[in-house]
Amino acid sequence: MKTYPLTGVSPLFEHERQTFQEIGVKINPILEGVTIDDNFLAPLPSGLKPLRSLEFCWLPTQIVEEYNQARDEAQQRELLEKKVYANCPLNCKGCFVKRDSLLLGQKLLHPEVIMRLIKEAVEKLGTKTIKYLGPTEFFRDPQAFEWLDRFQALDLIVGIFIKDPMFGDDAEVAVQFDHLGITSSEELIQKLASYPRLRLLFNFRSFDDQIQNNLVNGGDSRKIDYPKNYKTVQNRALKLLYKHLAKPELEQGRAARLVIINAPVVKSTINEALEIFKYFTDRGVPVLSTCSMASGKGQALYLNSTLSFFNDLAHYYAKATAYSIKRGLVSQAYTDQYGISPYAGIGHCFQLCNGLLIRETGQLIRCPGADHKEWRDKVTPEELVKEGIVTAWQKTRNYKQASCCNVGCLAKPRIFNSMSFKLGLLQEEED
Ligand code: SF4
Repeated sequence: MKTYPLTGVSPLFEHERQTFQEIGVKINPILEGVTIDDNFLAPLPSGLKPLRSLEFCWLPTQIVEEYNQARDEAQQRELLEKKVYANCPLNCKGCFVKRDSLLLGQKLLHPEVIMRLIKEAVEKLGTKTIKYLGPTEFFRDPQAFEWLDRFQALDLIVGIFIKDPMFGDDAEVAVQFDHLGITSSEELIQKLASYPRLRLLFNFRSFDDQIQNNLVNGGDSRKIDYPKNYKTVQNRALKLLYKHLAKPELEQGRAARLVIINAPVVKSTINEALEIFKYFTDRGVPVLSTCSMASGKGQALYLNSTLSFFNDLAHYYAKATAYSIKRGLVSQAYTDQYGISPYAGIGHCFQLCNGLLIRETGQLIRCPGADHKEWRDKVTPEELVKEGIVTAWQKTRNYKQASCCNVGCLAKPRIFNSMSFKLGLLQEEED
């Protein structure tokens, strides 16, 4: 059964052809919440190339210490299942972070060490925005607010990918944050809204409860599935997130600090993708939607997608882009200049030329879109920690990649370079 989470929230537009500019509402088409122009990607006064977007993965201090004390690989494997992966209450199909080979035989970096690298990047590499990607949920960490306070002190735009049921389930919040006097989802979200540069990137893939619940379960046979009705807590979470991170911002003439992540778009959700795009966009919340990563458990989804799915996906991309232009989210001129974005209907990613991903082991990766050997940088975690990120950045492939707004999604060539995808775009344009 389909349910619509933002009941009582009317679309911002009175008629079909109105734009955000005409109704005076701000919306940011860039996932990172920044404005990309040639200056943004231009060399720093030091002559160095700016590392504008730093993505990172880390785990709570206690789990890091336990994992790093494992006496052998067998014990490490057990801790990987029982502590690392188990720190997330969900068991999603296609989870992009679950690549055992990236963690086994490796130590985990302490969040303190990664925080130090982030601080160095802000001070010396012009880093303006960071994003937490995993490998579990950021707020399953008793120090979560300590880290947010320190990011705020660095004046960073902070994006955090979330799916956590605690945003719609008071009991789960009380377990995690009772020590701070926070005992309900609304109290948690109100406290998060008090961080003015925090953006929450909320995963939402279907209005249908059976489809959505199925997507967050059964992903890994070593994990227990989420026992409750995820759709119910997801809808409650979205109401609260919209109430505190979208509505007040829009009313004060600022862009919402809530972004919907409809990813990965798969065969069971492709038919809803445009409806999801329009539903949230028309309420002032941008939607990032794209196909599966070629990393972790996502690789199977990526490799098994069919040509007909590529074609369907292309039709969706073209329709979302057309709708986005109609609403003034991106302009025709932007689309003519840079082409179709790897994120349907919104701005391009600049991760491969002015971004970098630090995985929880310190492994540097071009972007989260793939994790095979070619996508991993040669800089070792030991070098990164010893020499620092200024030195490491200059050794990476992304540093050598020419800066531009539309490098394109080189992480997923099988889809974005496929004839079926390109033909699908062309067909849609002809319609
Ligand atoms: S290259 Fe592709 S997968 Fe990687 S960050 Fe950009 S859009 Fe995402």
